[in-house]
Amino acid sequence: MSNSQPPRKPSQPTLGVHMKCCNSYIYARLNAAQDAYVGWCPKCAKPVRINVVKEGGSTSRFFEAS
Ligand SMILES: [Zn+2]
Repeated sequence: MSNSQPPRKPSQPTLGVHMKCCNSYIYARLNAAQDAYVGWCPKCAKPVRINVVKEGGSTSRFFEAS
């Protein structure tokens, strides 16, 4: 018997966000309510919030925050 499967991490949905303010790229995380991705610019600490699109429209997993 082999048990060589990689350990499963709890899925932590993230969303890549380009922070235009400082030209930085971050990963926003799903908030507790699971209705938006939230993150902060690592350079100027500007908060970013991206609402989760529940109705099948945008399949983009990359966003820009101005
Ligand atoms: Zn910034």
